[in-house]
Amino acid sequence: MIDSHSHIYSDAFDADRQQVVERALQAGVTHVVLPNENLASLTRIRQMKLDYPQFVSMSIGLHPEEINADFREQLSAMNAILEQQHKQFVAIGEIGIDLYWDRTWRNEQIIALTEQLRWCHTFNIPFIIHCREGIDEIISVLSSLTHPVPRGVFHSFTGTAHDITRLRAIGDFYFGVNGIVTFKNSNVRELLPIIGLNRILVETDAPYLAPVPHRGKRNEPAFVAHVVNFIASQLGVAPHEVAQTTANNAATLFSLH
Ligand SMILES: [Zn+2]
Repeated sequence: MIDSHSHIYSDAFDADRQQVVERALQAGVTHVVLPNENLASLTRIRQMKLDYPQFVSMSIGLHPEEINADFREQLSAMNAILEQQHKQFVAIGEIGIDLYWDRTWRNEQIIALTEQLRWCHTFNIPFIIHCREGIDEIISVLSSLTHPVPRGVFHSFTGTAHDITRLRAIGDFYFGVNGIVTFKNSNVRELLPIIGLNRILVETDAPYLAPVPHRGKRNEPAFVAHVVNFIASQLGVAPHEVAQTTANNAATLFSLH
């Protein structure tokens, strides 16, 4: 299994990161993609890559909730890093639109998303998109790019079947499924056959969104097995097939071979 989205570089894991990695390996998680948030988290991600070079891959990007008055400085610093070292990164992310708590920086989020999608094109790196209350803005940005639409994944996808149809009119994207799929009040399970196993990436979004039976606790990569098992039961296929296919999907999108 590949955990395609996990913040195990964060301080939530400072006390026991080595044990978390060991539990992941024991559970059959062979690789973890680390999605970036801001310049400070990039330092933590780089340290994890030094400590676990085979086990983790790095992303770079400015999370929509991190966008405020200094976003242009953060973007130009990341752009400079990419100019020198783009081969070190498997994804631009997490980028996107989040208007759930606050719509103050909506225009800046749109500008930053457009700029970072241009990096995907320039450096030939796929995106990891974070979207909350922002699907219309994201579809509008993707539809008006002045370059080809990059490859990428809509992480923690919680949209509708209609959203999937609208996105597929733009590009052949992947969709990230995490512990939300195991929650009784979520519609994600109904989307699984629409997305199809060949376009699903599994993820934890640790430390958040722990799947049942760990709901409400700190999440960690080992728990992605619960997501895999739940998807298998919903689609009527063997867990090892879900594990293998979603790992292949992640390896293909992020060029992890
Ligand atoms: Zn995340």
